[in-house]
Amino acid sequence: MFSAAEIKEKAKKTGFDACGIAQVATADSEALFFDRWLKEGNHAGMAYMENHREIRLNPAGLVEGAKTVISVALNYYPEQKLPPEAPHIAYYAYGKDYHFVIKEMLNELWSAVTGQTDTGTARFFTDSAPILERYWAWKAGLGWIGKNTNLIIPGKGSFFFLGEIVTSLEADHYDMPQKDRCGSCSRCLEACPTEALEGPRHLNARKCLSYLTIENRGEIPAEQAACLGNRLYGCDTCQEVCPWNRFARPTRIEAFRPAPALFSLRKEDLKGFSREEYNRIFAKSAVKRAKYEGLIRNIHNLKD
Ligand code: SF4
Ligand code: SF4
Repeated sequence: MFSAAEIKEKAKKTGFDACGIAQVATADSEALFFDRWLKEGNHAGMAYMENHREIRLNPAGLVEGAKTVISVALNYYPEQKLPPEAPHIAYYAYGKDYHFVIKEMLNELWSAVTGQTDTGTARFFTDSAPILERYWAWKAGLGWIGKNTNLIIPGKGSFFFLGEIVTSLEADHYDMPQKDRCGSCSRCLEACPTEALEGPRHLNARKCLSYLTIENRGEIPAEQAACLGNRLYGCDTCQEVCPWNRFARPTRIEAFRPAPALFSLRKEDLKGFSREEYNRIFAKSAVKRAKYEGLIRNIHNLKD
């Protein structure tokens, strides 16, 4: 057993912006919604989402005898944004790839509390395993899942990476989920340029510019390409309009500061964007997820 208070205190010291603790149980409340969402094809080309259903709904498949999910959030909101005329890059991808940063921090956190690393009784994840990250963050009391499908932390907003420690150890205290505070607001649904938010918490990835410019390996359908504007990689619109993000504060994580080369990117220079330039500018960035070919496809679709 470990102390919930101690891990929260250490999480703060490690640099996380929020930490909560949930007891492992099957995510029954999500199962029906998730199955229907998949059946309707809303996951677009992300066929991997059809795999590992049982693990997705219960992380006991990832760590034998899992009892606890420790959920953490790390702010990535940039201090300085690219100018509006520059090609838009999702804020989360401004700096160094978050996978490395968060895994290292989770390791530091867990070893500070238990003296153990990522083996045996605990495993660490950040967007790296079939886990319903936002569900666990909600269950661990970090915030609620907004109509734009993002985890919103009261008084802090939604520009956060999520990470988890799944462990077979029990905590001496578990947190309670927070209530939904979207209320009658529907700004995100109204602002989405492609109507990809087809209802509260109902994202159709086939229409989402974030999916289409990052995960998608095919062409961008003409109807959605016409809405791209200057989005080169990702789309932050449904978060930018969210009133809870008026609380967003710049990240304190040095690694998330943008590489200076990012600020020199101009739409007109992208026409002959070479693989060498791509490797130089996005060397350690999450932008590499779109791959060079994907970025070139996005460049061709940018509005002049
Ligand atoms: S990321 Fe952009 S396209 Fe996708 S749902 Fe949000 S506003 Fe719509
Ligand atoms: S914009 Fe409004 S409805 Fe959408 S997530 Fe934010 S608070 Fe909820």
